[in-house]
Amino acid sequence: MIQFKNVVKEYQPARFKAVDDVSFSVAPGELMVLIGPSGSGKTTCLKMINRLIDPTEGTILMDGKDIASYDPVELRRHIGYVVQHIGLMPHMTIGENIALVPKLSGWDAKKRKEIARELIALVDLPEDYLERYPSQLSGGQQQRIGVIRALAADPPVILMDEPFSALDPVTREQLQEELLRIQTQMKKSIVFVTHNMPEAVHIADRICILRAGKIEQIGTPDHILRNPANDFIAQFMGEQKMNVKNDTQHTDLPAISEIMLPPIVEYAHRGLAEGIARMRSRNVDSLILVDKGAKFVGVARVREMRLRYPEENLTLMDVAITNYPSATLNDPLDSVIAKMHQAKVPMIPILNEKDRRVLGAVTRACLVEVMHRQLQDEGGQEPWSN
Ligand code: ADP
Ligand code: MG
Repeated sequence: MIQFKNVVKEYQPARFKAVDDVSFSVAPGELMVLIGPSGSGKTTCLKMINRLIDPTEGTILMDGKDIASYDPVELRRHIGYVVQHIGLMPHMTIGENIALVPKLSGWDAKKRKEIARELIALVDLPEDYLERYPSQLSGGQQQRIGVIRALAADPPVILMDEPFSALDPVTREQLQEELLRIQTQMKKSIVFVTHNMPEAVHIADRICILRAGKIEQIGTPDHILRNPANDFIAQFMGEQKMNVKNDTQHTDLPAISEIMLPPIVEYAHRGLAEGIARMRSRNVDSLILVDKGAKFVGVARVREMRLRYPEENLTLMDVAITNYPSATLNDPLDSVIAKMHQAKVPMIPILNEKDRRVLGAVTRACLVEVMHRQLQDEGGQEPWSN
């Protein structure tokens, strides 16, 4: 569908190569992610596809035909374009914004309305939003409109330049899911630029990693995760790889019951001074709180206790984190580690599954112990033993 052949883009005066001998192709229906550090040439590659920039050397083919032979305006009607700050026209309604390209292409008003209604349903926004103006929508909603606007004239190719980068993480994930859903239905050829590796791994059919204008590696997310071509890529992929490891290597880990420590608990109705005294005597920085029936109700940390200490009538429950994560004896240890990592907590209480009584706690110190044991298992005898 799209083919780069030895494409170079030089900028004057120093003949600096922003894109340096790049060749790759994007198949029909394929979602290709271009990823790389800032300045690696991602945007330049994208803009050469719709001729906002012309290459210095090499050719770009669309459907086997050199794009240099197209009229740029005509070419752009066959290519949807989504950018970070989407630039919806503020004086046009959402409906008019969506139907902008169809209008330029001469569709009549009825057909334009139809397509706008169809598309807005695709991103789960109510139809009466078509009458609203961009400023009346949230950032995430505006970005959804930006995405469907690019789809309006049904172009075979969509270019997306960091389209979700300005969004909060939750909205960002929602839009990723919506994009994947739309892509399953519509099967466009999409070139998607990001510098966010989890995003790339999640949405890409293939990933093309750029550095300093050159392609470092190109392949499926799975292939690149397993076989990074060099240290740069390995580092770039680093965090993702850890997650994969956790998924596949949980078999040798000990059970929670083997490593958990006796819990340091306190009644939730006790006062802050009592709580602080107890932490001091046990040399810990948080307390697992239980109700009068010994059931887990939350965790109180020293920070909140200190902060609110002057308020005399507070109980530990008043400063507790009540949605604090917990686990049960039957959970695999790797899921507990993942939970600690995700919630960024140093300790997880272990509960009896049935009545939520506190049985123990897994702390970072326990995990060090686990690692130590695993090293022993793998390395055989310790050097100082006979
Ligand atoms: P990315 O999108 O990966 O962050 P770009 O494609 O925008 O990178 O830019 C690649 C390199 O080209 C950068 O070093 C950038 O500074 C340079 N560059 C981009 N546009 C121009 C320009 N018009 N003139 C000179 N240098 C440019
Ligand atoms: Mg860019």
